[in-house]
Amino acid sequence: MNNSIKLESIDSKCPNCGNSLKYSPEDVGLKCESCGTREVVEYSVQNKKQPYDNVNDDEIVAWQKSKKHIKCKSCGSTIELENNEISIDCPYCDSQNVVAQKDIKGLNPSFLIKFTFGRKTALAKFKEQVKKKFFVPRPFKKDIPENQIEGFYFPAFSFDADSVSAYSGRLYRYESRGYGDKARTVTVYFNVSGSLAFNHRDVLVESSSRLSQYQLEQMFPYNFDLKVDFKPEYLFGYVVEQYNEQFDKIVDKVEYIFKDQIKSAILRKYHYDGVERLDVNSSFSNEWFGYIMMPVYSFEYNYKKKKYLTYMNGQTGKVGGGLPISKIKVAFCSILALLIVAVPVVLAIIFGE
Ligand SMILES: [Zn+2]
Ligand SMILES: [Zn+2]
Repeated sequence: MNNSIKLESIDSKCPNCGNSLKYSPEDVGLKCESCGTREVVEYSVQNKKQPYDNVNDDEIVAWQKSKKHIKCKSCGSTIELENNEISIDCPYCDSQNVVAQKDIKGLNPSFLIKFTFGRKTALAKFKEQVKKKFFVPRPFKKDIPENQIEGFYFPAFSFDADSVSAYSGRLYRYESRGYGDKARTVTVYFNVSGSLAFNHRDVLVESSSRLSQYQLEQMFPYNFDLKVDFKPEYLFGYVVEQYNEQFDKIVDKVEYIFKDQIKSAILRKYHYDGVERLDVNSSFSNEWFGYIMMPVYSFEYNYKKKKYLTYMNGQTGKVGGGLPISKIKVAFCSILALLIVAVPVVLAIIFGE
């Protein structure tokens, strides 16, 4: 255990029987799986987002890079932490180990969105939605394979900002001119300029080793009105990681998303087919952020000798991507789409106009 940092863990022992307490969404509190003892987790909603122009995040990189281990409070085993976990189930005795907050380097989470249902309900929701998805193969829907369900919180940052942008550019659209034999399509260019004000709210950037931003967006939306102040007790029963980059990098990502939002909002004002050029000059104010833990269930299963991993929003139950797709259905729809475009053209060629 040389060169490995030892982290303290907080207790999750049942006061009645000494087994491990886990968070139970249905009970909105902790529950002992052995004797049924319950403990309410009092929630609060006092934290506010904080400004992000002056965040010092120097400690995080060294912490992320270093090896870390924790001694299980129940059985005394040493557990290596692989992915900057701050909450982990002991592989030897199944009790929960949540790293004490004093031992977590970098920013501490301010908010959390709670799981609203347990694993059993998650599986029922999974089956129900998969059956309604058109592109999922029918044999899969009929006999959904054995799943391995895991609940985890992923670290993310939620940003707010207000922007004012001045822009100018040149767009174009296609217009048809003339009739019958003389019908043709022309490209019409036009200049645009103006200003745009935009309120960016709850823009989420993920920072976990398990999810990509794309996979996250497939589970949108989350209802941020229901976020609560972070408490370590919520983590009992889930695998949770500390964020895996430096805060600066996360800010770079959100600025990219902000710019995208601004560009889309500008272009929505016009009727156009293409963009030749669009220069946007933005200034930002009221920049706030919150570090937040987001609930996700993952479903791991095999189908036709292939491994699949599908995610579900742990607040709303919405299933994300990553499901098996029927190639026949996709091919059929592509042909159908082609026909819809092609048939009128062919008819016009045959019968003239
Ligand atoms: Zn107990
Ligand atoms: Zn243990």
